[in-house]
Amino acid sequence: MIEAVLWDVDDTIFDFTGSERTGLLRHFEAEGMPSDEAALERWHRIAETARRRLAAGRLTYDEYRRARVRTFVDRPLTDIEADAWHDRYEALFAAAWSAFPDAASALDALPYRQGILSNSSTVHQERRMAALGLRHHFEVLLCSDRLGCAKPDPKAFLAACAALELPPARVAYVGDKLDVDAVGARSAGLHAIWLDRAGTATPTPSGIRRISTLTELSAHLAAC
Ligand SMILES: [Mg+2]
Repeated sequence: MIEAVLWDVDDTIFDFTGSERTGLLRHFEAEGMPSDEAALERWHRIAETARRRLAAGRLTYDEYRRARVRTFVDRPLTDIEADAWHDRYEALFAAAWSAFPDAASALDALPYRQGILSNSSTVHQERRMAALGLRHHFEVLLCSDRLGCAKPDPKAFLAACAALELPPARVAYVGDKLDVDAVGARSAGLHAIWLDRAGTATPTPSGIRRISTLTELSAHLAAC
């Protein structure tokens, strides 16, 4: 019997990819730059390189943000100019924030306690859930920045279960990433639900339930 559901946020409840895409395209256009698929692809390539340098400890978070901007605009910018460019993007990204159309009704319908476990920043996810009018669904909102560990580490899932004062066998985890979310949750002893919105060809590993929309969720949880 399930007593609680823990949720991933990005690309599970919050349409991160779609919101980011809209925000970037509007920002490029507002900056007088080409605003198309090639520009998006270049931004993501530059961002990934900067992210690797951040992960390797070669950049601070502020330096990482500025490095993406400077490489992308391809001209010298002061720190203040680079930060302002990024802030203008953040404003357009925030204006484009949206939840998936099936999220609010799924959250409303579930007769379980609910919480969030995200590999993101607590401040970002608190802000997003509040802006989307969904924060009230969750008893706890836990992110890797304050937990000190991240999915798929079982410690992250177990910390979230402890916050709910429930054993993992009484908790389900719903997330869009097979390895980070579903396999991680299963390894920690939770009921793992993999939200595969794209309908990939990857076989479903044993011990994991796969859904393609959140409307399928309650039937799966009832069967756990
Ligand atoms: Mg996700």
